[in-house]
Amino acid sequence: MFSNQKEYHCGIFRTVEEVFINAGLIFKRRSEAMKKHCCEAMDYHANFKCDIHENSFGCPDKIIIFDENDNDYGLIIHDGGSSSIGIAFCPWCGSKI
Ligand SMILES: [Zn+2]
Ligand SMILES: [Zn+2]
Repeated sequence: MFSNQKEYHCGIFRTVEEVFINAGLIFKRRSEAMKKHCCEAMDYHANFKCDIHENSFGCPDKIIIFDENDNDYGLIIHDGGSSSIGIAFCPWCGSKI
């Protein structure tokens, strides 16, 4: 019985290790495809893409607009137009952006 239990534990460790390896590969692939932002919250909001609203300015869930060319972040003003307020610091982590 004891030897069976030992094998069982070995099996668990092996699985956890594999999960970490897989997670590392997924993370690497993600960071290659997307620009890295200051924090996870900014990463999420800057890369947020709505399935319903094609235009970012028409989506109430989209609050951050990121201009890759100018490296500029802005808060979207949901007034039906396409205006935004530029921000110099991250609203979530406070980093200069
Ligand atoms: Zn941040
Ligand atoms: Zn939307």
